[in-house]
Amino acid sequence: MKTFVSVLFVFFTAQVCWGDSDNTTRLVSEHRPLLHTFVEIKAWGNGAPEAIQAAFAEMERVNSLLNNYDPESEISRINNAAGGAPIPVSKETMEALRIAFRFGELSGGALDITIGPLLKLWGFTSEEPGLAGSEPKRSALRAAKKLVNFRKLELCEVYEKDGWVRSARLAQQGMWIDVGSFSKGYVADRALEVLQQRGITNALIAAGGTICARGVKPDGSPWKVAVRHPRKEDSFLTFITLRDAAISTSGDYERFYEKKGKRRGHIIDPRTGMPVERMQSVSVIAEKGIDSDALSTALFVLGPEKGIALIDSLPGTAALLVTHDSSIVMSQSWPEKIVIY
Ligand code: ADP
Ligand code: MG
Repeated sequence: MKTFVSVLFVFFTAQVCWGDSDNTTRLVSEHRPLLHTFVEIKAWGNGAPEAIQAAFAEMERVNSLLNNYDPESEISRINNAAGGAPIPVSKETMEALRIAFRFGELSGGALDITIGPLLKLWGFTSEEPGLAGSEPKRSALRAAKKLVNFRKLELCEVYEKDGWVRSARLAQQGMWIDVGSFSKGYVADRALEVLQQRGITNALIAAGGTICARGVKPDGSPWKVAVRHPRKEDSFLTFITLRDAAISTSGDYERFYEKKGKRRGHIIDPRTGMPVERMQSVSVIAEKGIDSDALSTALFVLGPEKGIALIDSLPGTAALLVTHDSSIVMSQSWPEKIVIY
């Protein structure tokens, strides 16, 4: 992963501009390695180059609050204090945790951001996923499962005379929040907000599996996004137009390893403690990046029946799922019916 990042970095950090030379309709694009992936921002309008710099700065700031691999982040502080005292947190951390908590409830616990102990047990907390020894024993799985329960995340937000006071606490020692299912979406939402504050209303942000779009391209046409084929690296299942919405894809090809002929992927079913085997990929469209990101992981665990039922209950969302046997399942609301596997 590291080599991949540095090689691409060489090619992509330069600003790429095209369109006419008029500052207001010129499309400005910049890539940076961030959030353990590549982030690209494309935008146009007056002051777009400066706004993009500010948006990246905001992404770095919010990521430094949330990143559970950074020992200084607020999430790491909550993790390290599990079972102890509440930890003061920022408005942003509280907002992201509240939304992720809500999707935990809506998905009946399929999305559980306290999945950390199970991720560790299955070897997904290091740069290169994998297990040095044999697969986890039943007793170890049982013990880790007991530490996974987002309902034991206590979020407190009270208004006092000097303003809002916010804190978070994990009720049991050994619990561990992992933000991988929602942080890219949340950080991209924050960046879009910074662009908006600077008057940039037409932009596209791609952060790994999450893409957020606002407005249109300089020629007035909508942003178009490809949905990757889960088994053929350079092929696409379909293309969709995205306007004031976000799309996230969770795939079994993202982070996985093979052990004794078994493919083990990075999305774990908190109810069984096992890596999910029955899905190849899930794409979800929603208004906000954090919603599409959290939902794509939740649906990966839920599977097609319960997953589509959840999407049908949430206005403004749509989903496309590819199951392990290469069946395509989409919600009624999915905008593009032509999907080629
Ligand atoms: P990415 O966009 O990085 O591929 P996803 O949005 O697909 O990530 O979410 C997968 C990540 O979420 C995993 O790498 C892990 O960090 C975390 N995760 C795995 N299983 C769960 C789960 N059941 N609930 C919440 N988070 C999970
Ligand atoms: Mg996700």
